[in-house]
Amino acid sequence: MKKEKISVIVPCYNEEKAIPYFYDEITKISDKMKSLEFEYLFINDGSKDNTLNILKEYSKKDKRVRFISFSRNFGKEAAMYAGLKEAKGDYVTLMDADLQDPPSLLPEMYSAIKNEGYDTVGTRRVTRKGEPPIRSFFARMFYKLINKMSKVEMVDGARDYRLMTRQVVDAIISLEEYNRYSKGLFSFVGFNTKWIEFENVERVAGETKWSFWKLLIYALEGITAFSTVPLALASVIGIIFCLLSLVAILFIIIKTLIFGDPVSGWPSLVCIIFLVSGIQLFCMGIIGQYLSKTYLETKKRPIYIIKETEKDV
Ligand code: UDP
Ligand code: MG
Repeated sequence: MKKEKISVIVPCYNEEKAIPYFYDEITKISDKMKSLEFEYLFINDGSKDNTLNILKEYSKKDKRVRFISFSRNFGKEAAMYAGLKEAKGDYVTLMDADLQDPPSLLPEMYSAIKNEGYDTVGTRRVTRKGEPPIRSFFARMFYKLINKMSKVEMVDGARDYRLMTRQVVDAIISLEEYNRYSKGLFSFVGFNTKWIEFENVERVAGETKWSFWKLLIYALEGITAFSTVPLALASVIGIIFCLLSLVAILFIIIKTLIFGDPVSGWPSLVCIIFLVSGIQLFCMGIIGQYLSKTYLETKKRPIYIIKETEKDV
């Protein structure tokens, strides 16, 4: 009988230091899981260091190693999408190159699919040990907020590290949107999901590619991609202010009729103008966010561009 295949997708951006550790670790796991044929699919996301050459070396030595190299840095979301599209396995897993997604969990994840009948197994870290406290705080706030605003559930601490059956992978690939927010997409497609929890692990080598601002922008991406509540918010604030102004107009008319004195009170007028125009700009900004996303979607630009793969070596 032909062995079933499992694809391990690894997005890499400037990971020359981490890849050798990752390779050693994943080969150890593959040796344990003998019933499966492995394929390691590295995505070089426009690295500026020696990542590509290292991947070329590995792919020459080991035929399980495949790689896709982008023409520039397209971001982790694009790298994951490319990996899912190009993976040939009956099962597919996504892992970071820095060993923060422990490959040692893979046998347990596989067994949940094989023996317990799940379609996909996700992982979440229960601690945020080793992370700046302010970052953890904002992350928690973000999950609270987005889960209030979106019908699609986002699990706090969920990693992109997961194992999926071919069916789930095909479902994810069928979502071809340009503004990709994977945590939401995985949740959107549904299927029976098992969650495995683990303690946060610090990266083996190299450094994180995510600054606070990048994460903030990514969080906004998540909100605009999976919720239209902010748009509704703009209308609600608009209605409230219309009502308030009606009350204020009535108040002023009555006050003038009874007491005269029509010119006093211009400071309050200025304050109100500032407040209301501020709110108007804020709401226009929200609409602008959605408009810009729509604009990018309608262009139908490719999510990634491949420069070379292991077949070119
Ligand atoms: N990554 C990528 N493209 C990018 C940024 C990151 O492919 O533009 C990869 C990176 O090489 C790593 C994974 O995404 O394998 C997670 O990145 P990182 O460890 O820097 O994020 P953190 O774990 O700190 O959130
Ligand atoms: Mg990491």
